[in-house]
Amino acid sequence: MKSDPKFDDALTLDPGDWTEFRAVAHAAIDDATDRIRTLRDGPVWQPMPEDVRAAFSGPVPSGPQSLREVYEQVATQVIPHAMGNVHPRFWAWYMGAGDLAGALADFLAGVDGSNLGVGDTAASLVDQQVTRWIREMMRFPEGASGALVSGGTMANIIGLTAARNAMAGIDLRKHGLAQMERPLAFYASDQVHSCHHKAMNLLGLGANALRHIPTDDGYRIDVRALRDAIAADRKSGIKPACVIATAGSTNTGSVDDLNAIADLCARERIWMHVDGCIGALIAIAPRNAHLVDGIERADSLALDLHKWLHAPFDVGCVLMRDRARHRSTFAENAEYLQPATRGLAAGEFLHDFTLETSRGFRALKVWMMLKHHGVEMFGRLIDQNIYQARYLTGLVEAEPSLELMAPTATSVVCFRFNPGGSTEDALRALNTELLLRLQESGLCVHSDTTLRGRYCLRVAFCNHRTRPSDIDELAAAVLLLGNELLQASRSIP
Ligand SMILES: *Cc1c(COP(=O)(O)O)cnc(C)c1O
Repeated sequence: MKSDPKFDDALTLDPGDWTEFRAVAHAAIDDATDRIRTLRDGPVWQPMPEDVRAAFSGPVPSGPQSLREVYEQVATQVIPHAMGNVHPRFWAWYMGAGDLAGALADFLAGVDGSNLGVGDTAASLVDQQVTRWIREMMRFPEGASGALVSGGTMANIIGLTAARNAMAGIDLRKHGLAQMERPLAFYASDQVHSCHHKAMNLLGLGANALRHIPTDDGYRIDVRALRDAIAADRKSGIKPACVIATAGSTNTGSVDDLNAIADLCARERIWMHVDGCIGALIAIAPRNAHLVDGIERADSLALDLHKWLHAPFDVGCVLMRDRARHRSTFAENAEYLQPATRGLAAGEFLHDFTLETSRGFRALKVWMMLKHHGVEMFGRLIDQNIYQARYLTGLVEAEPSLELMAPTATSVVCFRFNPGGSTEDALRALNTELLLRLQESGLCVHSDTTLRGRYCLRVAFCNHRTRPSDIDELAAAVLLLGNELLQASRSIP
């Protein structure tokens, strides 16, 4: 090739100095290992100083900077101000605590570089093996399909899209919602996760198409009220399409009666979808699997692997009983993406089972973690978290100035500091302040919620690093701080 003197035709992103790259990468691995080994000694979370905040405001870099310097900024300004969900005393919302084998897998997946949308690659086989493993773990029948996606929201959207198309009564992909003879109704409890509202929006059904059925004292869907709502809709010419059962609600960890819902759906010929983002994996926990009995009867199931499997963010999974239905909901037939019998395009087209076309190799972290730790370990860790929730519940019940706010069904404990004699507003103010002070102190992080109008602290155990002494410390800190705040509020004239 004749070279153009004004044009550098040997540009590449590869390291100019391979030895230097190797040294920085080794340092990063060493730092990561030390960080996780000594996590417990540091704060869960810390407020960010202004100079750190300011460090993220510059313009796009036009020229290069050494990888060592860039890594230095990550090590000193990004990592110390992480969320803290990897710390043993993080119990907010619902998040996995991460895992070094999973983190290593994310690096290796990036090096492999495969796009799993299409292609006959080992990466694609890893992905398919992982979805088969999850199908096995959930006791779904052989022949059921699955897809790894970004998380629970996307997994739910995929399940509900299949439900909508299956129940529309017309070829919805072709004709669209406007051609439907009868409007569809979906049903879920008043505890349903907000991502289902996003789904209703996206599916063009609208928020009103999702009926919120009341829950009982244990925050489980009232199956009788569900049956009545279905009957009322049928009577008024609306087509009951899908029940969204919750296995592990975000507020309280409650699990709907899955067998009763499966019976009802079978009788009524309605699609049963289970949002198991929190609780589905209880199915692998030897002591508690019975809590999610019936989950294997769902038509579609959404679960999260970045929650109770502790895979680094982000990865979720949807399972579908009817593989053909799953595929026909999403498969396209572009001339530039034709399957082949030989060569690179001969593999399974995984993008036929999801909304995305390009797909990352998120399967590798799940695959490496399941191989390295074994599925039994994850089941025992889930049992351990459920035990920890019961342990904290016991501490709350034994302490007169703590109030349990909901029955502890699985791994979420809702309670508050309430020594009596305070109004609801005062309790909200006091407990909110308590929560914020604990977060700012770095001692522990949990979150809050409001149940039937009453404010509560919410401690969710989804953490493989928590020890019983951490829970004792939490209870002691809530009491100490609660009493201090109470004294202070009473001393204000
Ligand atoms: C977390 C959660 C979701 C959403 O999952 P993402 O992974 O955050 O998208 C949906 N439903 C329930 C019950 C959840 O707890």
